Amino acid sequence: MKTRRYFLSKTLVTLAGAALSPSLLTAHHVEEPLPLPTLQGRKILFTYGGWAGHDPETNKDYFVPWLEEQGATVVSANHTAPYADEALMDTIDLVIQSITMSNITREEEKGLLRAISNGTGMVGWHGGLCDSFRSSTAYQYMTGGQFVAHPGGIVDYQVDIVNKKDAINQGLSSFQMKSEQYYMHVDPNVKVLATTKFSGANDPWIEGCVVPVAWKKMFNNGRVFYSSLGHELSHLIDKPDALAMIQRGITWASASKYEPVEKWINPVYY
Ligand SMILES: [Zn+2]
Repeated sequence: MKTRRYFLSKTLVTLAGAALSPSLLTAHHVEEPLPLPTLQGRKILFTYGGWAGHDPETNKDYFVPWLEEQGATVVSANHTAPYADEALMDTIDLVIQSITMSNITREEEKGLLRAISNGTGMVGWHGGLCDSFRSSTAYQYMTGGQFVAHPGGIVDYQVDIVNKKDAINQGLSSFQMKSEQYYMHVDPNVKVLATTKFSGANDPWIEGCVVPVAWKKMFNNGRVFYSSLGHELSHLIDKPDALAMIQRGITWASASKYEPVEKWINPVYY
């Protein structure tokens, strides 16, 4: 009994000490995000195509010069064949994709997921990343979300910035959009950076529903960033905070191979 009592008291002391330990107190809280890296020297693959209504080529023509101005080297392709080129993918730091719907072959899907898992970053916006290859659930597992509806088509709505301490969100403020308000099915294992609330004006059963607009996540060693904004390129360019968030997401995701994994609280259900 004495031994057991001694053991219990020692355990309690240890637990009390652990409860007061600053390192343990912060162990499950969000770590301070690293400052954003630069794109200098990064090798980027920009793929575009799919449904023409999202002007994939216009997106490519706008973003590629900006990427090059930041010091990145860009390879672009209006198809997904590069994903199956293992030697090429091993040299790529970041894939930016602007391909709505369309299809991907099994080999391309496997090659893309292998690269992201190994540390290549992945970025896209609107339908170009999260309404691509609808029949590929393995691909959706990597992106962290899937478009399912935009009630009312072009509507007025607000985008709210959350997780304001994240390096991607520094200095950004909530803003109004007149565009497609994407209703997404979202992986709970993401860090949400922006949200929007649905009014229910078109579909009354979703009144007050808050849905993520932008997030960052990991797919094993690869950083993934997504924003649902950008039905038209002008909708991004006209909103500096919307554009800045994507540009910073690009910068952040380009560094998976060079920086440690950020830790954040994974949402759980009770
Ligand atoms: Zn659209």
